[in-house]
Amino acid sequence: MAVAREDVLDALRQIKHPEESQDIIRLDMVKDLTIEDGRASFTVVVKDPDSAFANQVEEACQRVLHEEVSRGLSVDVEVDSEMIPLGDDVMMGEGETMQQTSGEDGVQNTIAVASGKGGVGKSTVAVNLAMSLSEQGYEVALVDTDIYGPSIPKMMGMEGEKPRVNDERKMVPLEKHGIKTLSMGFMVDPDQAVVWRGPMVTKAVRQFLGDVDWGDIEYMILDLPPGTGDVQLTIVQTIPLTGAVIVSTPQDLALADARKGKAMFDNVNVPVVGMVENMAYFSPPDQPDRKYYLFGREGAHELARELDVPFLGEVPIQQEIRKSSDQGTPIVRSAPDSASTQAFAGIADQLTEQVALRNAEDDPTQKIEILYE
Ligand code: ADP
Repeated sequence: MAVAREDVLDALRQIKHPEESQDIIRLDMVKDLTIEDGRASFTVVVKDPDSAFANQVEEACQRVLHEEVSRGLSVDVEVDSEMIPLGDDVMMGEGETMQQTSGEDGVQNTIAVASGKGGVGKSTVAVNLAMSLSEQGYEVALVDTDIYGPSIPKMMGMEGEKPRVNDERKMVPLEKHGIKTLSMGFMVDPDQAVVWRGPMVTKAVRQFLGDVDWGDIEYMILDLPPGTGDVQLTIVQTIPLTGAVIVSTPQDLALADARKGKAMFDNVNVPVVGMVENMAYFSPPDQPDRKYYLFGREGAHELARELDVPFLGEVPIQQEIRKSSDQGTPIVRSAPDSASTQAFAGIADQLTEQVALRNAEDDPTQKIEILYE
């Protein structure tokens, strides 16, 4: 019997934690999920093993999986109490520590948005993906780590604003369009950053993210600098990432660079949870059903297949995307009914699905290694 992993997750989403009022997938309570030969096995990690919920959850899992997936599925559920003390200080080599950005301080998933080269719409995708997740009810943070050309403050309409520091000497992110936002552009002069090497970037990222009052965040979206060099590598090694999204346009040159992006994340064991094709096609406003494939057709889609990476979706070229970014209200908010907004909503759906699968099947990415040159 072939059982789809997505179907198992969807069924388990029906089980809500009574106190948290969220489902057990969104709360990352399902771990070590394997599905093979008509058998689904997993562990449900609970805070209090003596609670009424802990006592009932196994039966609830059995029931929803038999009802929603298949009566014939054999279901193997273990209930365990919380096992990973996330949020502890993490050793970073040379005796230094950094407070993890995930775990206790309330950041559940950190997703880096990357591209092999500049100008493919990486920041545009990062911003609109963050907005779509927020529209879907998630608590979202958006972090601009593009030290060379920070564009998030402009796209979010917060140019010139500076974060304040609270009584505990923690930086308070700026809140705009319902999203907590910080940009390294607040701290770093892009003209100086151009000559930085890895260790300087590490120091800046650590200072920048080390002491921030994020509160509870379900998705932190990090906009990386374009490219796959030393600086990008340093950033993805400094921050414990749940996964990465690679943005590409359909033409060959961009795709060759997207391939390098995948190799970079493979090197540091960060799973690529998806690929997005931006500027996939153009539909004239007076012919919304026509699609012109200006940069080639489905290139990123094919590359995703070849690299065995989930394809999250495609975004059309739309003048309104650029205009709304320039004006500081991303298209997901400024034109909620547009084709592009629908595309971003679909991409956000796919992303949450892939992240849920990754969290249920694999251990969290926790290890932080800093390579000093
Ligand atoms: P990157 O972060 O990859 O350098 P940006 O997100 O800054 O790229 O996008 C580069 C330019 O292209 C911006 O002016 C942006 O508004 C525009 N742009 C990005 N994606 C689209 C799209 N799908 N349709 C129209 N313009 C776009």
